[in-house]
Amino acid sequence: MAILRCTGGRIRYSSRREDNLGKQTELLDLQALDSSLDRLRKERASIAERAEADELCREIEKLQSVLCALEEELHESEREQTRLENELSTIGDKIGREEKKLYGGGVVNPKELASIQQEVGSLNKHRDDIETELLETMETVEQRREKADQVRDRKTATQERVDEKERVFAEKAAALDDQIARVSKDRQATAERVPADLLAVYEKIREQKGGLAAGELLAAEGICGACRVELPAQELERMIGSETLNRCPQCRRILVERG
Ligand SMILES: [Zn+2]
Repeated sequence: MAILRCTGGRIRYSSRREDNLGKQTELLDLQALDSSLDRLRKERASIAERAEADELCREIEKLQSVLCALEEELHESEREQTRLENELSTIGDKIGREEKKLYGGGVVNPKELASIQQEVGSLNKHRDDIETELLETMETVEQRREKADQVRDRKTATQERVDEKERVFAEKAAALDDQIARVSKDRQATAERVPADLLAVYEKIREQKGGLAAGELLAAEGICGACRVELPAQELERMIGSETLNRCPQCRRILVERG
């Protein structure tokens, strides 16, 4: 039955069958847009720089923990250095006091003088030991400081790499978000042209079939455009020109014949 349809001021004739097929053809457009969206979202979720930045962040965490341990060791050596410096100063004062007694003329008793001399000798020996220990500690401080500096530099360099990865990720993500927004808009407009019941069937199959709900009925080749399986001749004949919803007997997806 022919009906009169008015679109945008132009008048053309169409039949109900063509109308129905037209609605079904929209499903193929919808499927193409949904597949694009799935691909774009997958691409968005698997931008390499995201995982690379995360990996580098984990490396930074490890470096930070190494750095903390090194700084703790460094502070320990620095505290030891301060302790030795103080001890050295105390011994120096003591030696000064003893030598003053020794050469000040206040003590004349030879036995007492010998005892002071012995004390000064022993203090000098102790000072030598502390000085040696201090030099070794200063060396340790220097080594630990260098080591901590190296790790800190590596951490800074790694952070710079993270920043660069984050920058590239943000750029790629923004570009994909733009594309996703554009395709979503088209998808919305296309979905609005599909009858609600047909759309519901399509959505349900899409959910069950990993995103691919509709395929083209490739009549000339006699195959399902979704699973590429050859359709039985009788089935194919029934489907061609059919006004009802065709489903592939193999994959159960909607098969749409392009007009
Ligand atoms: Zn199929």
